[in-house]
Amino acid sequence: MAAAAPPLRAPRFHARHRRISVRCAVASDATEAPAAPGARLSADCVVVGGGISGLCTAQALATKHGIGDVLVTEARARPGGNITTVERPDEGYLWEEGPNSFQPSDPVLTMAVDSGLKEDLVFGDPNAPRFVLWEGKLRPVPSKPADLPFFDLMSIPGKLRAGLGALGIRPPPPGREESVEEFVRRNLGAEVFERLIEPFCSGVYAGDPSKLSMKAAFGKVWRLEEAGGSIIGGTIKTIQERGKNPKPERDPRLPKPKGQTVASFRKGLAMLPNAITSRLGSKVKLSWKLTSITKSDSKGYVLVYETPEGIVSVQAKSVIMTIPSYVASDILRPLSSESELVEAVDRDLRKMLINPRAVDPYVLGVRVWPQAIPQFLVGHLDILDAAKSALNRSGYDGLFLGGNYVAGVALGRCVEGAYESASQISDFLTKYAYK
Ligand SMILES: Cc1cc2nc3c(=O)[nH]c(=O)nc-3n(C[C@H](O)[C@H](O)[C@H](O)COP(=O)(O)OP(=O)(O)OC[C@H]3O[C@@H](n4cnc5c(N)ncnc54)[C@H](O)[C@@H]3O)c2cc1C
Repeated sequence: MAAAAPPLRAPRFHARHRRISVRCAVASDATEAPAAPGARLSADCVVVGGGISGLCTAQALATKHGIGDVLVTEARARPGGNITTVERPDEGYLWEEGPNSFQPSDPVLTMAVDSGLKEDLVFGDPNAPRFVLWEGKLRPVPSKPADLPFFDLMSIPGKLRAGLGALGIRPPPPGREESVEEFVRRNLGAEVFERLIEPFCSGVYAGDPSKLSMKAAFGKVWRLEEAGGSIIGGTIKTIQERGKNPKPERDPRLPKPKGQTVASFRKGLAMLPNAITSRLGSKVKLSWKLTSITKSDSKGYVLVYETPEGIVSVQAKSVIMTIPSYVASDILRPLSSESELVEAVDRDLRKMLINPRAVDPYVLGVRVWPQAIPQFLVGHLDILDAAKSALNRSGYDGLFLGGNYVAGVALGRCVEGAYESASQISDFLTKYAYK
C-alpha cells in the first residue's frame, strides 16, 4: 500500500528541554571539541545505539562512504552493547560475560583492520574439535568430510538417512515456511536434528528450534534446497555459480585464518567497540538515552534524549536505529498511532480495490506488530519486511532499521549488516537529502 505521510507531530519537549543539535566534522579523530550546549547544528546521520552494529555503521559510513557528519548515541555509560569483556589485570586474566568469539569473515576482519586492531586479532586452533555430550560421553563433531564415516555421534542408519536426505531422497518441502526442526528432520533425519542441530541452536540462539525459522536463522542452508532441489544439489550449484563469478580479489591487508575457526582480540572482544569509539571521538555520546523521535517540519528528524546534562534534541537528515527491537518498537510506535494506521489502510484500499466514494469502513481491530526479540521465529523475515516497507510507505525516508534482529545475531552478521546499512544511508544522503 502506498500512503501519504501521516500528520507531522511536534516533539514532546520536557520542561527542562534545551535544543542542542550537533554537527561533527568529517575527520574521525578523538580531539574534536564536544558540541557546545545551545549550538544550533545538525548531523547527516544519527546512529541510535552504540553496540557493535551502531559503531560499525558509523565507522563504515566514514571509511567506505566518506560520511563523517555522524553522531552515535548510546544509553549506557560504555560502548559495545552486549559485548562485555571484564578484565582483572592484577590477577592476569579476563573473561567475556556476553559474546565470547566471532567467525572471522572478511567483513569483520576489515572492520578490525580499519580500527587498528590487526595485530591484536587472535584465532582459535582450527583443528580443535567441537564436542556434543551424548549419552554420557563427549563426542567430537565432524569438521571435514573425511570425518563423516568415522565419527561416533551418530549411528550408521542415522548417517545413511542423512546422506540419502541430503541427496534429495526425502519428503518434499511442505510449501509453507518451516521451522529449523521441521526442515532438518525432513532433509537429514531425526539423529542430525537431535544430536547436532539442537545443541547448535541452543548455543547460537539460546532458542527453540521448533519455533525458529529455518529461512531466517539458517538462510544459507535453506537456500541450498531452494536452489538445487536438495542440500547436495544446492551445494554443487553454488560451487558452479562461484566458479562462473569469481570473488573480487581479497584485501591484501586482511590476515588469513587457517581453516574454519573462531576469533577474538588479545584483550577480549571489547577491544573492537573501544577502538571504534576512540576513533570516532566526540561523535560518540555515551549516557544519551533516546526517548522520542519525530519527523521534523523541515527535512529529517528530531531526536530527543535524556543525557547527564538534561534533555537534549538533535536534528538529523537520516537516522538508523540499532537498538534492540523491543526498545525500537516502543519508540517508533508513536510514529503511527492506531487511527493513522486505519486511515492509511482505508486510503489505500480505496485507491486499490474499492470505489473512492464508498461508505466509511467498519474497523474490526488494528493489528500492531508485537515486540520482537532476535529469535528469528517462523515469519520473522516477513515481519521485518513489513516493518521496513511501512516506514517507507508512511513517508519516513531516511529512517533505517539495523542491529541484530535485522542483520542476524552473530557478531559477524552485525558487522556485515553495518556495512549494508552504511551503503543504504550513503545512497539516501546522496540521492535525496542533499537535493
Ligand atoms: C550472552 C550472549 C552471548 C552471545 N555470544 C555470541 C558469540 O559468542 N558470538 C557471536 O557472534 N554472537 C554472540 N551473541 C550475539 C551478539 O552478541 C549480538 O547479536 C550483538 O552483540 C548485537 O549487537 P547490536 O549492536 O545489534 O545490539 P546491542 O549489543 O544490543 O546494542 C544495542 C545498544 O543500544 C543501546 N540502547 C538501548 N536503548 C537505547 C536508547 N533508548 N537510546 C540509546 N541507546 C539505546 C543499548 O544500551 C545497547 O548498547 C551473544 C549474545 C548474548 C546476549
